[in-house]
Amino acid sequence: MFYSINIEVMKLLSLLFFSLMITNVSLAQSILIDPGHGGEDCGAKGKIWRGKTLRIICEKDIALSIAKIIHKRLSKKFHTYLTRSLDRTISLEQRAALADKIKADIFISIHINASTSKRSHGFETFYLDNHDNAAVKKVEEVENKNIKGEQVIINKILADLVIDRTAPSSRKMSSLVHKSISRKIKKKYKMVDRGVKPAIFYVMALSKRPSILLEVGFISNTKELRKMSTKKFQRDYANAVARGIEKYFKKTKRPPLL
Ligand SMILES: [Zn+2]
Repeated sequence: MFYSINIEVMKLLSLLFFSLMITNVSLAQSILIDPGHGGEDCGAKGKIWRGKTLRIICEKDIALSIAKIIHKRLSKKFHTYLTRSLDRTISLEQRAALADKIKADIFISIHINASTSKRSHGFETFYLDNHDNAAVKKVEEVENKNIKGEQVIINKILADLVIDRTAPSSRKMSSLVHKSISRKIKKKYKMVDRGVKPAIFYVMALSKRPSILLEVGFISNTKELRKMSTKKFQRDYANAVARGIEKYFKKTKRPPLL
């Protein structure tokens, strides 16, 4: 008798345990990390001397390397996905479709900046918003450069549609992530903090989620490219981003999806 009660209690306890596990799993937030470009699309290009050989470095490779570290770190606590884990071509629409498929709570796109001026340097963070200023326009041109004519109009309309719903969350997330990056990177790597800025990026508008786009540094600046190419920098930067995201989720209730 006593033995059989124990069995029943054990059964109940294990049922309770498994249902708690399931509840916990479904409560965990879902994150989509998007390493910019990939495959045929190299993104911005930089040059670096390795001994006597001049090597071309692609934005897509540094972005993927950093995104993978962020993914590894955040996977411990959240459902975390990458739009690409390999060097492959993937359209902006495919990236956004994945956000829907996995019901992502947030979308983080990783890019490396470029400028015609080799002096330009520093890290900056963008969030989806429809403000209008010269700096935003410039970056829009860089990261939206494969988007033409009608798509630009669609871009604006889409952004307007999702903006009311997601902009406050995007702004909050960008602020927390940027602060965390600045704390870790600014002094240690002597990099300039270019701040948090509103922007309209096609991929962020399509994702329909609270979104941020990180420009890690300038690939067109040799000094900065050297820093960004090291594993140490990539690890520090990625860990700072992960810490910022953890803070964001601590302070935020799950935002409603469109
Ligand atoms: Zn890019």
